[in-house]
Amino acid sequence: MPAYTSINSEILSKIKEAVGTDAVIQDPEKLIEFGKDAAEDAHIPDLVVEATSARQIQKLLRLANRHCFPVTPRGLGTGLAGGSVPLFGGVLLSLAKMNRILAIEQDNLIAVVEPGVVTLDLQNAVKEKGLFYPPDPASLDTCSIGGNAATNAGGPACVKYGTTRDYILGLEAVLPSGEIIKAGVRTRKGVVGYDLRHLLLGSEGTLGVLTKLILKLIPLPQAITTMVAFFPKLTSAMESVTAMLIRGHVPCAVEFLDDRCLEITKDMLPFKEAQSAKAMLIIETDGVQDVIERQMEAIGEICLECSATDVIMAPDSLKRARIWEIRRAVSLRIEERFPLFLHEDVVVPIGKIAELVGGLRGLEEMYGMNVYSYGHAGDGNIHVNITAEDPKNRDRIEEGIKDLLRKVLSIGGTISGEHGIGIAKKRFLSMELSAESIRIQKAIKDIFDPNQILNPGKIFE
Ligand SMILES: Cc1cc2nc3c(=O)[nH]c(=O)nc-3n(C[C@H](O)[C@H](O)[C@H](O)COP(=O)(O)OP(=O)(O)OC[C@H]3O[C@@H](n4cnc5c(N)ncnc54)[C@H](O)[C@@H]3O)c2cc1C
Repeated sequence: MPAYTSINSEILSKIKEAVGTDAVIQDPEKLIEFGKDAAEDAHIPDLVVEATSARQIQKLLRLANRHCFPVTPRGLGTGLAGGSVPLFGGVLLSLAKMNRILAIEQDNLIAVVEPGVVTLDLQNAVKEKGLFYPPDPASLDTCSIGGNAATNAGGPACVKYGTTRDYILGLEAVLPSGEIIKAGVRTRKGVVGYDLRHLLLGSEGTLGVLTKLILKLIPLPQAITTMVAFFPKLTSAMESVTAMLIRGHVPCAVEFLDDRCLEITKDMLPFKEAQSAKAMLIIETDGVQDVIERQMEAIGEICLECSATDVIMAPDSLKRARIWEIRRAVSLRIEERFPLFLHEDVVVPIGKIAELVGGLRGLEEMYGMNVYSYGHAGDGNIHVNITAEDPKNRDRIEEGIKDLLRKVLSIGGTISGEHGIGIAKKRFLSMELSAESIRIQKAIKDIFDPNQILNPGKIFE
């Protein structure tokens, strides 16, 4: 890392001249909230710039190169890997005010947005025009489209619809040099040159600042229906997931809760079947009403064939909302209950979920931790919540996490499916990527950002 210059009064006045005094926040009280995300501890920035245009960002990044100070992009700070934490101080660049939906083109099924648009606001706006933007991170009412693009966010709908990356046709970005580039297209297809769009997407704000996104939309499904199924063992639940997918029933969500997660949400579960169950699936299908009804019947049959003790339909929106409330409550309850709570979001091949989750009990004994697992059974993305009564156990638990990640990799998985590497997981990067792969990735970073001014200290040790 270079020796960064602190933001002295000369640099400060140049920044104010470049972006306008109104865009700058210096109040120490206000800076605190920009120093952390939803997971990582605070590193307070020297100042915040609230950008409203790509031109301001261009000028800011040119100054950063000239004076060698770091700039960290931030959407709405809900990240779970510390990606928007300004590790070396400097300028925190907030994109929250670039929050306009610039166009929704019904005929072309696209939307053009600024990065600070809240994901749920976009979903609602396109819905009014009979269109659908599927990516649905659980944080969708509090996170931004720019943050989703920078982390390639996913959610329950991924099993049918894919992740954020699959809905970004084109983009505008300000590179660390201050150059403004367009990448990708505004059409359904496009293969001209190397795909810089996909290089920038998921790069966690280390290669460029996303300032405009062209999004692919699809027609809004007519109807949606929900079901819960209870199982005596996790393996039976996972067998039913594989069976429904193989037989051609692709739900728009298949979420699972293990026995531990059921235990801590028992009071919220309005089903007596839940009291003795060891695993629960939440399954949703969307599409044409009578088609999804038939599909749900078939999926219910498959669950029963795989030893489900009960299958309960929740066709109306009220029941549906109650079921999702339970799913969302799990992580909050775990966090409330344990003084030490660490969160991994590994992915394994779908057929290996039960093997991984089943094997966690062995790790608990070995490393003195309690593990709660839930997540996206449809795509193998498991939220492994590692807890301990005694925070002093952290070192031992760190070894347990490494063991977990080794197991994930040995069965063909990956160490992060949604949250990214940021600060939180960079020490594990070399467990998954070869030295040569890391060398090439660092060389790409050097081409984009030779002075290391954009979001330094992220992804790579
Ligand atoms: C309760 C809860 C539930 C969550 N559920 C999910 C989930 O289901 N799926 C999932 O994927 N994630 C989930 N997350 C994590 C988080 O919401 C996502 O990573 C989200 O995409 C972050 O968006 P943000 O606007 O808050 O970005 P931030 O946290 O502000 O930033 C995240 C990263 O993106 C970069 N960045 C942000 N905006 C830009 C930009 N315009 N240009 C370049 N880089 C930028 C930042 O530098 C940082 O590296 C959850 C978080 C919480 C707190």
